[in-house]
Amino acid sequence: MLDVQKIRTDFPILNRKINGKPLVYLDNAATSQTPQQVIDVIVDYYSNYNANIHRGVHTLSQEATDLYEGARLKIQEHFNIKHSHEVIMTAGTTHGINLVASGFSNLIEKGDEILVSALEHHSNIVPWQMLCERTGATLRVIPMDDNGQLIMADFGAMLSERTKLVFVNHISNALGTINPIETIIKKAHEVNAAVLIDGAQSCPHIKPDLQALDVDFYVTSAHKICGPTGVGMLYGKQDWLNKLPPYQGGGEMIAEVTFEKTTYADLPHKFEAGTPNISGGIAFGAALDYMNAIGFEAIAEYEHELLEYATDKLSQIEGLKIYGPKDLNEKTSVISFNIQGIHPYDIGTILDKMGIAVRTGHHCAQPVMDFFKIPGTVRASFAFYNTKAEVDALVEGVKKAKMMLS
Ligand code: PMP
Repeated sequence: MLDVQKIRTDFPILNRKINGKPLVYLDNAATSQTPQQVIDVIVDYYSNYNANIHRGVHTLSQEATDLYEGARLKIQEHFNIKHSHEVIMTAGTTHGINLVASGFSNLIEKGDEILVSALEHHSNIVPWQMLCERTGATLRVIPMDDNGQLIMADFGAMLSERTKLVFVNHISNALGTINPIETIIKKAHEVNAAVLIDGAQSCPHIKPDLQALDVDFYVTSAHKICGPTGVGMLYGKQDWLNKLPPYQGGGEMIAEVTFEKTTYADLPHKFEAGTPNISGGIAFGAALDYMNAIGFEAIAEYEHELLEYATDKLSQIEGLKIYGPKDLNEKTSVISFNIQGIHPYDIGTILDKMGIAVRTGHHCAQPVMDFFKIPGTVRASFAFYNTKAEVDALVEGVKKAKMMLS
């Protein structure tokens, strides 16, 4: 059992008032809030050991290096990654996907096929379209059904020896659908296709075991898991990472530089050109410590309770339609909805007046909205620090908005 009231005291922002009302933060799928324990780590870095890493002999540089590399080890342990050099520190999910997509430019050719799911965030669509433009490969879309779930029979039929890459998010940010990634990885490997899983939305709820999944690439962002923005990680199996060329050239990623020829550093540094987000990396490690101390099983169980409670209450509002899986065991704590005849933006604006933060719009997943023939949805996404009282506030807010806008 989570002690939610105690957990809430870790998050200073939850004391804020918005438009004179207590903040009800239900936009966790966009970014999670940051506990004091993680904020302290960032302050401590700039107060006590701010220095560039890896290249200094002085004490500050060594301390910063040890902490930064310590964070890499925490990430390795959290995701059950075999080698620490398979953990590439990135600026986030988008950066990790672009790194892989760019790296595949010379490994993909005309006639090859790349599969993405119909549920993807733009950051898991556009880099692959750009790769297809560069190489002449074809992008194909694994379709979904009316419940926002992938049609696995169609996926099976699309696989062939032409399939080189498959990219799927673990959990959809637009609908909360949990995709059957274990099956997707297994089936893709049967035709020797590489698989990249976008874990941006799953990491806050699930602790993935990347070795057990046998996935080739996995990306995520720290800011979805109580860490800071602008930092994340890319996991790649070492054989794949060795095959890919560096993404950016610069300091840190070289073995030796002359004007005639440069040789590259070994993994992970080959993909880590320039001074990284040092405090961010260290804070990413601290965020994982924070979440693990609470426990992912307890987090998932509690969030599911919130999901059931909120789904039940919202469903009772006439004209309100929730998009995504009907079986709540097949989704996470995201409720994407509309009220007949009312634009989602208007609902979001009225909720904000009441201090309630939700996301409105296409959620960087326009193809999902196109599928449902809607401009967007209102999305309430719950974290382990939300309460049933906040769900009640949302439900009352939506009822009021409906009354005002009908
Ligand atoms: N993929 C998914 C499923 C996401 O939810 C997000 C963030 N909304 C991203 C990718 C992009 O993450 P970032 O902006 O941190 O790079």
